[in-house]
Amino acid sequence: MSRFWSPIVSELSPYVPGEQPQQPGLIKLNTNELPWSPSPAVVDAVHGADVDSLRLYPDPNNTSLVEAWADVLGLSAEQVFIGNGSDEVLAHCFQALFQPDRPLLFPDVTYSFYPVYCGLYRLPYETIPLNGQFEVEIRDYARPNGGVIIANPNAPTGIAMDLDTVRQLLDLNRDSVVVMDEAYVDFGADSAVSLLGEYDNLLVIQTLSKSRGLAGLRVGAAFGHPELIEGLRRVKNSFNSYPLDRIAERAAVAALRDQAWFEDSCARLIANRELMTKGLEALGYRVLPSCANFVLARPSEGDAESVFTALREQNILVRYFSAERTREFLRISVGTEEEVSALLAALGA
Ligand code: PMP
Repeated sequence: MSRFWSPIVSELSPYVPGEQPQQPGLIKLNTNELPWSPSPAVVDAVHGADVDSLRLYPDPNNTSLVEAWADVLGLSAEQVFIGNGSDEVLAHCFQALFQPDRPLLFPDVTYSFYPVYCGLYRLPYETIPLNGQFEVEIRDYARPNGGVIIANPNAPTGIAMDLDTVRQLLDLNRDSVVVMDEAYVDFGADSAVSLLGEYDNLLVIQTLSKSRGLAGLRVGAAFGHPELIEGLRRVKNSFNSYPLDRIAERAAVAALRDQAWFEDSCARLIANRELMTKGLEALGYRVLPSCANFVLARPSEGDAESVFTALREQNILVRYFSAERTREFLRISVGTEEEVSALLAALGA
């Protein structure tokens, strides 16, 4: 605490990211990164970058990336907004699109950055309990609100909502913006991008951090009605006109164009998730049905924290959340085949 801090800063409870230790030989299953290298097209794009051009500012509109992403999803350029990771895109949504006179609604178990942004932008919020199966109960979202945000698949549960349910949520909330945070959608859920033509209150957020294996590049996007996108651009151009550097934009375009690598990589990840799930279940774990690149799993005795600590001693890093509803679980990112075997062997021992 400093006497120089503003009142907002004094009251913030900042987000705590998963550890990023630099220690070699660690099996890192704690922050939902892809366990293998991104597309070779990205490697070529980075190597072929024109370093001299770094003396110039990048394109503030990220035109080439907007066009590439619009092309992949069958959207128009006016429906696409780009940011420095989807966390930044989310932050702009909180400031641009949620109304401060009514509470923002989101599940009690979800991405823990949402309440942090509420603190930063002084938005009231209400958390809505997931049901006993850790699913979103749509009828609980039929109440006055200043916006709704749902991660689909949800994190840290991995559980996905189907498109009919997303549609019901949108119908119940015609007068507020519904944000679907699809950070993990490519690992087995249906994207709400297909509903954009029907709903002017829908904003979909995606990222290259997970399924494209580019968490270190920091590229995310929002898709929605041009007026919602314009709202985000107004905030962005009042904050940082150049959120993406030239190399990131170039690499991101290369990643989006390599559809074959993307499909193979997602299929391999999903196969490894099934391997990990079966292995954990054979060891007596309860594993929630995941459509993401991680699973939420409960050891048979429910003492997740001591399993977390024992794994850490064997250089295997997973994530433990001490909150009420998740403290008996571990969130484990899906690794390579070798990493999954090492994890299961360590847990078996
Ligand atoms: N949404 C969810 C649900 C996430 O788990 C994450 C990753 N922590 C993000 C958004 C942000 O990802 P990024 O900023 O890397 O795009």
